[in-house]
Amino acid sequence: MSSKQGKVSTSKKAQSVAAPVLLHSITQLVTMHMPGWSGPRRGRALSDIGLVEDGAVLVSGGKLISVGTTREMRKDAWLKQHIREVVELDCTGKVVIPGFVDSHTHPVFAKPRLVDFEKRISGATYAEIAEAGGGIRSSLDGVRKESRQQLAERTLSAFREMSAYGTTTVEAKSGYGLNCESELKSLEAIKDAAAKWPGTVAATLLGAHVPPPEHKTDPDGYVDIIIKKMIPEVAKRKLAAYVDVFCEKGAFTPEQSMRILKAAKIHGLEVRAHVCQLTHAELQPLLLFHPASLDHMDFVSDEDVNELAKHDTVATLVPGANYFLATKSYPPARKLIDAGVPVALATDYNPGSSPTSSMPMVLSLACTQMKMSPAEALAAATINGAYAVGLGDRKGSVEPGKDADLAIFQLEDYREIAYWFGANHCVGTMMSGHWAE
Ligand SMILES: [Zn+2]
Repeated sequence: MSSKQGKVSTSKKAQSVAAPVLLHSITQLVTMHMPGWSGPRRGRALSDIGLVEDGAVLVSGGKLISVGTTREMRKDAWLKQHIREVVELDCTGKVVIPGFVDSHTHPVFAKPRLVDFEKRISGATYAEIAEAGGGIRSSLDGVRKESRQQLAERTLSAFREMSAYGTTTVEAKSGYGLNCESELKSLEAIKDAAAKWPGTVAATLLGAHVPPPEHKTDPDGYVDIIIKKMIPEVAKRKLAAYVDVFCEKGAFTPEQSMRILKAAKIHGLEVRAHVCQLTHAELQPLLLFHPASLDHMDFVSDEDVNELAKHDTVATLVPGANYFLATKSYPPARKLIDAGVPVALATDYNPGSSPTSSMPMVLSLACTQMKMSPAEALAAATINGAYAVGLGDRKGSVEPGKDADLAIFQLEDYREIAYWFGANHCVGTMMSGHWAE
């Protein structure tokens, strides 16, 4: 990249894939480096973003080799030795951050839910729409009818849209097939899309999104299918790393959720859950399974906030869903952070409640609606997102040895990422050393 304004030219990106790359003169480099700290960031540590002015990053073989100031970098022994083959990018006037880790998305669906959108605008609630056969179940027909290839193409275009906003790692769930065949097809589509995208994808089985219409009167029968068929098959074919469950009124009870998470663990899969989105639920039974994350958390109790502070489970907040559903309140980010709970931010990209692929938009919502500082929001969207998908040792910070996942913004101050809402100032995204197309 040159110091010129605007997008990096594709030819330069293509050239730089194989050669080592030096990004230098970075006006602000956000590293998230925090000496002596391990595990997800909590409390005051969430605002320690390891800011370097006039920063430099050296990338080779898909990894970060060296990180520091431009002046320090010029003395780097490896750089001096390889200087002839290194492609240099002047990042004057730019902010570079660790690529966003979007740790909660539902990218496998066929169509936007525009009828639900209009119904809600004219006054129907999310619960009323679901009750009337809209909501999650209305996405089911599309996913069941579409081919693996069609779903993979849509998923890939979602991943590409995400990386255009600076996202380099995505957690991607199934959950609109709701039978064994279509849930497996959805996970295969994620696998196919992931193979064509240079970013990193953590796949999650969300067969337990809601019971499908054919099991309306027999939800336990559907739970049996998840436990006896879906989970064993997914584990055997290594189609997902995680199993998720929507523990909520109208979806799955705490008892059903526990049965599902237990089966996941037995088959060697990690777990996470959607919980406390619309109503309160006790977290203690879910915490027994050491979930990587508990997501939404709008109605978490004070006792559970204090309990969560003792765990490494990340509370993933998805304010895009609150914005789109126009809820009266947002998840209690301040309460969680101040109590010492590790908090992550994600898009919850999905056709019903949060149709956005933009992490910068989520940062804006986190700052304006949940009173997170821009620094806290950035840490929550990078390093804590990485821990929420079990990749804290490889992703989420700009440190030597980690994957070369970077997002470059045509901005001079990191706070502007959350400030300019609805605009995209990301001008370059590198994923394991490869530039986004
Ligand atoms: Zn979700």
